[in-house]
Amino acid sequence: MQTVSALLDKDWHDRYRRIARLNIRSSIYDLTNRCNLRCKGCFFFSSGEHHVTEETAIEKWEQFIDQEKARGVNLAILIGGEPTLCMDRLAAFYKRLPTYCATNGLIKVPRDQFPDMMVGISLWGGGEDEKVLRGQDTFAISSKNYEGDPYTYYLYTVTPRQVGRIEPVIRRIADVGLKVHLQLLSNDESVDGFYWRQDELDDLRLEMDAMLDRYPQTVISSKYYHEVITTGMMLGRRFGWQECPSVTESLDTRKPPTRRLIHFYRWAADLHTVHRCCTSATRDCSTCKDGAAHMSWIMVNKRAHMNTTRDFQNWIEVYEMFAKLYRLIPW
Ligand code: SF4
Ligand code: SF4
Repeated sequence: MQTVSALLDKDWHDRYRRIARLNIRSSIYDLTNRCNLRCKGCFFFSSGEHHVTEETAIEKWEQFIDQEKARGVNLAILIGGEPTLCMDRLAAFYKRLPTYCATNGLIKVPRDQFPDMMVGISLWGGGEDEKVLRGQDTFAISSKNYEGDPYTYYLYTVTPRQVGRIEPVIRRIADVGLKVHLQLLSNDESVDGFYWRQDELDDLRLEMDAMLDRYPQTVISSKYYHEVITTGMMLGRRFGWQECPSVTESLDTRKPPTRRLIHFYRWAADLHTVHRCCTSATRDCSTCKDGAAHMSWIMVNKRAHMNTTRDFQNWIEVYEMFAKLYRLIPW
């Protein structure tokens, strides 16, 4: 391992300093067990994570959030189910913590109540794929709800059928003045035609790189992230259970311990149950394509990237990508 100064020139050193001062402690919260869609491949419903009794008393949520804040959490990532079905819980988080809301975008978060809350809208490809997997073309509605919104981006889950066809989707997003981040479908419900082959992943990596070059004002990403997510490899190590950083702390019994997100938990909507990780509790880790877990995997392994300048620059770019997704640094 080399020192930061030996690896970076002044410009890169400034970029490094900008992210090094961020001290992110995130956790994930299922805000509700309900959703206004039922997508094929939704990890939440397919793994039965909605089988808990939802807490409905808002005072209990407020108490719980205060406890989470005292535990050191400084970034609350709200998922579900569909969080916008529970605006009072959303408000309870937003008043107390920097908050990110993952939504399908069908219901608009009122900006007079939540002026700068980060919103990530899920999108599963072009209109046809969305109809097959989600029952409707959600973009048609979500893009009207959020057009030009400075605190919103699309989280575009690319499916194998989208390989070679992602540019029109990115252009549509650019045309409504929004940003986009890419991740890959894990096909948790074994939908025919939506499994990945390695040659498709290789092609997709090149396509994602090209999109980043062509739409730098729209795509929030990094080429190293594209490499790691499409190969499942980082510095010769393979992603999977033994390497995953996004495991709930109290359930993490791995030996030897691995580098992980400090104090990370994923809480169910009963405010007692914890789920295994940031995604499906029943997913086979060897097939997991979760974008956030891969990104965090890179981020928690800083030292391993401090052998060459290129490796460390790659690490910085991924950290910047993460920080931009939560607007911890400007877009
Ligand atoms: S919108 Fe999200 S939570 Fe709802 S069914 Fe689809 S993937 Fe699941
Ligand atoms: S399913 Fe993915 S995110 Fe969950 S523990 Fe396995 S590798 Fe990690």
